[in-house]
Amino acid sequence: MSTIPHLQLPTADISCSNCAACCCQLEVMLITDTGVPQRFIDTDDWGGEVMRRLDDGWCAALDRDSMRCTIYEVRPLICREFEMGSPECRDERGGMNGIYR
Ligand code: SF4
Ligand code: SF4
Repeated sequence: MSTIPHLQLPTADISCSNCAACCCQLEVMLITDTGVPQRFIDTDDWGGEVMRRLDDGWCAALDRDSMRCTIYEVRPLICREFEMGSPECRDERGGMNGIYR
């Protein structure tokens, strides 16, 4: 299995700018109203509001050319609190190895 060097960086070198928005494939529940446009909102099996995801799993609000959030100013609370360099962040970066294989 091949690995991508930038996915194995020490915590201090982990940055969203050297990451392909790995965390933007996670399910994002909308637990507060931050102003996310309705076209990006879906309803989950339990009636809760979540960010809409495309068939390939990426958040519908992600710009696929720049891999940047198109609604950054009004992004959900969960996205705001997802901490760069956290164990969860590292997990997501590591998990992306699969798409580069
Ligand atoms: S928070 Fe972590 S996983 Fe998300 S884009 Fe930034 S570096 Fe990548
Ligand atoms: S709303 Fe923005 S930051 Fe949150 S998952 Fe979607 S693209 Fe990523």
